[in-house]
Amino acid sequence: MTETLCGQVLYGINTIYTVHTDTGDIQCRIKGKVLRSDERSYNPIAAGDFVEIARDLHSESQGMIVAVRERRTRLIRWNKKGRARQVLAANADLAVCVSSTQSPPFRPRFIDRVLAAAEAGGMTAAIVMNKADLGIGRDTEGRLADFRRIGYPVLVCSARTGDGIATLQGALLGKTVVFVGQSGVGKSSILNSLEPGLGLRTGEISAKHDRGNHTTNFSLLVRMPDGTSIIDTPGIREMELADILPEELAYSFREFFPFAQRCAVPVCPHENEPGCAVRAAVERGELHYDRYESYLRILFELRESRRSVHG
Ligand code: GDP
Ligand code: ZN
Repeated sequence: MTETLCGQVLYGINTIYTVHTDTGDIQCRIKGKVLRSDERSYNPIAAGDFVEIARDLHSESQGMIVAVRERRTRLIRWNKKGRARQVLAANADLAVCVSSTQSPPFRPRFIDRVLAAAEAGGMTAAIVMNKADLGIGRDTEGRLADFRRIGYPVLVCSARTGDGIATLQGALLGKTVVFVGQSGVGKSSILNSLEPGLGLRTGEISAKHDRGNHTTNFSLLVRMPDGTSIIDTPGIREMELADILPEELAYSFREFFPFAQRCAVPVCPHENEPGCAVRAAVERGELHYDRYESYLRILFELRESRRSVHG
């Protein structure tokens, strides 16, 4: 005998998914035919996914995932090692890109990629600038000012001193938020200052399930008492984009839009086309050159690979 209920995936390791339901957490496997076989994914079900479960009435903490609900949003990257798209988070409202002023150095190109992935996946994005106690250089300030100008909130904080943490907490309240960052920027430290122990759980759970290389590479959703849900992602070195068609990439650079509408060529790739209003705006300094260069690099990558093709 089974009963059917709905829940949200907290994390999945080696095909066992831990799903939160109103009646507690349930360990689930995927029922054979649930997933489309043509979906080449590193992880077909992701942290944040809403799923339907058939629960065995004799063992209440175990069940089968029988259906996955359509995702409202998704944050996807290309997993080079796994040669497949990796869904870092499903159904998040906000993507927070954590970066640091120094050690490791500020990497605006990485931020551009996270912002573009968030836009493509249908969620809003914000930048958290950690390690403010180490000081912020003038170049970095300039880039942050441009991110603000084009509409991305920038929250400056220090997990070490606690400065800015309360403001960050307020900005997340009640939302489902995915945190992304390169290793060493202080993502775990920030999560721990939001709620003690939060940033540690990924490591603890990894250790508990240690069975090979999947373990350090999964996201984890934590529901906080204040109604905020945090999806912590593994520290990543590169954010290569996937699931974006080259001709649609410009939509993920939101400040290009008012100019792109005025390009002479239809479906303008904004490279060297005559009458390209985006390129002209870059030359006039109305669009930041670094953002444009990030766009061109990603465009090139998407064309080179076939990973922009769905399925
Ligand atoms: P993660 O890899 O992004 O999770 O980074 P961690 O939270 O493990 O932090 C990496 C290193 O940066 C640790 O040595 C932290 O103590 C240090 N760190 C984290 N936040 C801050 C900060 O606000 N200021 C300074 N100076 N160091 C920090
Ligand atoms: Zn153009």
